[in-house]
Amino acid sequence: MAPKHQAPRGTRDLLPADTTLWSWAEQAARGVLARYGFGELRTPIFEDYELFARTAGESSDVVQKEMYRFTDLGERALALRPEFTAGVMRAYLEHGLGGRARVHRLWSTGPVFRYGRPQKGRYRQFHQLNCELVGSPAPGADVEMITLFVDLYEAWGFRDLTVLVNSVGQPASRRIYGDRLREWLAPVHDRLSADSQARLVTNPLRVLDTKDEGDHALFRELGAMPRLLDVLDAADRQHWDAVVAGLDAAGVKYEIDHGLVRGLDYYTRTAFEVHDRSLGAQSALGGGGRYDGLVEMLGGAPTPGVGFAIGLDRALLVLEERGVKADEPDVVCLVSMDATRAAATALARELRREFVVECDVEARGFGAQMKAAGKSGARFLVLMGEEEWKRGEVALKDSKTGTQETLAREALAAAIRAKKGEAK
Ligand code: AMP
Repeated sequence: MAPKHQAPRGTRDLLPADTTLWSWAEQAARGVLARYGFGELRTPIFEDYELFARTAGESSDVVQKEMYRFTDLGERALALRPEFTAGVMRAYLEHGLGGRARVHRLWSTGPVFRYGRPQKGRYRQFHQLNCELVGSPAPGADVEMITLFVDLYEAWGFRDLTVLVNSVGQPASRRIYGDRLREWLAPVHDRLSADSQARLVTNPLRVLDTKDEGDHALFRELGAMPRLLDVLDAADRQHWDAVVAGLDAAGVKYEIDHGLVRGLDYYTRTAFEVHDRSLGAQSALGGGGRYDGLVEMLGGAPTPGVGFAIGLDRALLVLEERGVKADEPDVVCLVSMDATRAAATALARELRREFVVECDVEARGFGAQMKAAGKSGARFLVLMGEEEWKRGEVALKDSKTGTQETLAREALAAAIRAKKGEAK
């Protein structure tokens, strides 16, 4: 009979075979984040719809087409989070963190939700690792965040990643740039996709975000795209120069991408992204930028900030395709006989304080247990023969070295520990 339910479109189950790599990646990231002095913040998966609508900009795709909006039984207008930053900054204000310390380094992880068309690397429920450095307007803060961004990928084994960087300036310089884009695109206006034509009116920078291949072909045809860097005011220019110099000093590889404009309205100055071409169309592995205007939008005092989100599903997809595997632990398998079955339960419990232990729970015979151990690929077999057990002994077989020895039961844990140590 076919099952009556499937996971909703755009969502997926991560089975134990998948989650091993996920947990390993999360552990590796936690280590990097702790060493950079970041604290973990956990916010709700849903927030007031207005929070996201206000911060993302009513004209953005996220708000208009992609948000999972709902009304709860108390008639509240809510939405599943489509990203982290708005919720993080809501929490920052709600708990008065700004009054407790000038600078906060906060990270979060968990599922986010966007109603898009599912495809490879694009889901409706996906997972992000999000980091924010709140409270500093200094270019050094941007540099530290980009360094952290790269170091997280490196901790997962990515090498030679090139970060794309640009400056998106301020609302005033973006308006000037918007006009330049309109002039630049005027000769091909009627051939642009309907979406891009509409964006050219409401928010011309977003035209550069278009996924339409025809639009990109037109951009190539026109050549010499206007550059936001050319219209920055003096202060933004100075900030930009300092960021680029800082990246050079830190040894971070980057390329300036004049077409990089982040999709949300609250970004100011530095914007950055990293891509992996092996993913095809959905190549962005993560991105971020400075958002000095965001806290004011939420009714707080002007507070600068810079942050990024890493798409975990995509990063892990690349790792899986490259055959990266989490380290597998050495497994200890207890093989007992009728007379030692009860003792095996106690021994398993004791050894599980330190090792990964398999132990029969179905009262199977010795032969069946041996077969199961062979199948599971356990490295150590602890053979609990009746006679040996009576003498206070067990046999320890190490299938890696092919050796077997009989030893005192009390010496078992130390022997396994020593053999594991030797292998390292
Ligand atoms: P954004 O907040 O749009 O900058 O997204 C940050 C990162 O999240 C992107 O670089 C992607 O790696 C990932 N991402 C965004 N949308 C999706 C999605 N629908 N499915 C999977 N990953 C996504």
